[in-house]
Amino acid sequence: MEFYIPAKIYHEDGAVLKHGKELASLGRKAFIVTGKSSAVKTGALDDVIKALEDSDTGYILYDKIEENPSVETVMEAADTGRDQGADFVIGIGGGSPMDAAKAIALMVQNRDTSGEILYQDIKIKALPVAEIPTTCGTGSEVTPYSILTRNDKKTKQSIRHKVYPAIACIDAKYLKHAPVSVIRNTAIDALGHLLESYFNKKATDYTRMLCQHGLMAWAKNRTVLSCGTEFTDENYNQLLFASTLAGMAISHTGTSIPHGLSYYMTYNKNIPHGKAVGMFLPGYLALIEKNLVPGYSDVIAGMGFNNLEEFKAFIGHCLGEYCITDEDAGKMVQEMLGNPQKLSSVPFETGEEELQDIIKYAR
Ligand code: NAP
Ligand code: FE
Repeated sequence: MEFYIPAKIYHEDGAVLKHGKELASLGRKAFIVTGKSSAVKTGALDDVIKALEDSDTGYILYDKIEENPSVETVMEAADTGRDQGADFVIGIGGGSPMDAAKAIALMVQNRDTSGEILYQDIKIKALPVAEIPTTCGTGSEVTPYSILTRNDKKTKQSIRHKVYPAIACIDAKYLKHAPVSVIRNTAIDALGHLLESYFNKKATDYTRMLCQHGLMAWAKNRTVLSCGTEFTDENYNQLLFASTLAGMAISHTGTSIPHGLSYYMTYNKNIPHGKAVGMFLPGYLALIEKNLVPGYSDVIAGMGFNNLEEFKAFIGHCLGEYCITDEDAGKMVQEMLGNPQKLSSVPFETGEEELQDIIKYAR
């Protein structure tokens, strides 16, 4: 068994300013990567700039990362970072800017190469990366993954390279500015990571321990997630704890069918990542139960539910409306059948029939 999480994690109030010197010591000129407005609204960008200025470290800001960032955006950002001489990258935001930061760190380091290297099986290095999450879902602050939109393939796909962040600064106060829909969707993404990792062929005692603890932290917020009101600092901290633990777990196991199916719905129906994953979780668990996979009852109880129907009702309530047409179902099945890596993560035989069952459960 092997276990490796290189990120130094600071999870506390004022994490960025308390550890600003260490953050700034990653290089001489930071390339700060953010979405359009959340880094400013949350105060996270101000904290990072203050930390860098206090240490006389230069910076350039790139604030044009879209949701589900594309290879094209990464390449445009990397050109700017390269031209301005950035030697480390700081991602601030949800999974979109944090994932983009890792791919940009590769493309700035490997100057004069095309974006194709992101998906090639070659050995390349990246600039050092620090991550500051403002959502409670992806765990990208600790994972080595960067999932980008590939317009050439009309879907989303993880790049081939592993870029482990060096530092993760986690501060619950940044979540206070997020709308309930963002908290719910991202908390359900984290739940997807916990479930897909727990029931994964690559799971080990180490990763299952992370998932069990993550589910316990997540379950404390079940009621408030359902009601959607009055999140306390404790709620935000527990949701961030759960999502970071889930990130550590999927760093070793990867995700599974619900994530694999979600990419079609996000690319083609513009559905946020966590919501697109969540719609397939009940159907996936139904197959876990049907195939008598060990741990099923413990996991349902660990989330605080009495049975799968309760779980399905909770997910339906949190996600709200969506529509999966016959055409979507057919295309999703074909996309998944062409993804042997995800199929091989499932702890039982999975083919067209099982995929159709999972999708049917979501409709
Ligand atoms: P996101 O796409 O980063 O952000 C969603 C929306 O929420 C954006 O409009 C963003 O605004 C806003 N937002 C973020 N934080 C906010 C805050 N504190 N207050 C108010 N608004 C806020 O959402 P995400 O679900 O965290 O990330 C999804 C991406 O992560 C997907 O591309 C997915 O594939 C990827 N992902 C990666 C991993 C991994 O292991 N690396 C795992 C799962 C998912 P701005 O645009 O202004 O920032
Ligand atoms: Fe995810």
